[in-house]
Amino acid sequence: MTNEERSTEPIPPFSRRSSRRFDKVKIATTATRGLGVFATAPIKARHAIGRVVGKIKDSVYRSSYCIAYGDDKILEPNHPYKYLNHSCDPNCELIEWTIVDQSKYTELEPSEPLLELWLHALRDIERGDELTIDYGWDWQSAIRCLCGSPNCRGWICRVDQLELCKRFNVATVVAQETTDNNTASEKNAPSEQQKSLAGNFS
Ligand SMILES: [Zn+2]
Repeated sequence: MTNEERSTEPIPPFSRRSSRRFDKVKIATTATRGLGVFATAPIKARHAIGRVVGKIKDSVYRSSYCIAYGDDKILEPNHPYKYLNHSCDPNCELIEWTIVDQSKYTELEPSEPLLELWLHALRDIERGDELTIDYGWDWQSAIRCLCGSPNCRGWICRVDQLELCKRFNVATVVAQETTDNNTASEKNAPSEQQKSLAGNFS
């Protein structure tokens, strides 16, 4: 086994080792959670799947398509990756890469960070598998999880806030579970707390 095969580090999409077969995905209906993103070709562990473009917002923003981004920001991806569902045992993760070749970003001001966000496979993915990530929502935003994985945490909530989530969110469970709306994709409708954009990947 080579050093590369032993590594668990994600392979940069710009690397010669990258497969460069990006965005081999489609949107389709899942069994229990509305729309999801599915692989249309096998994807090797650690490889880049596609570049994620979207809006970065303050963490108080509420949307069914949001993913925690850093400690206090939220990412709302554009199509197709806005349909990535959460799993407590995800097969994908988001990686932020600093762009070394800046020639294609000449339109940006020098002060802007030259970063790209990419979806990567955490393990080998078969054609037809649903792609999932860990949303990592903070406990105030957490809702019950329907991912169905053996290690499901019961809540779509970042791991380090799970106990806090369980302690304070129990009172809201009844209200949530009596609604007809049992999908993660629709429970957190945008609220009046939406804040202005703090940045974007576009
Ligand atoms: Zn779960």
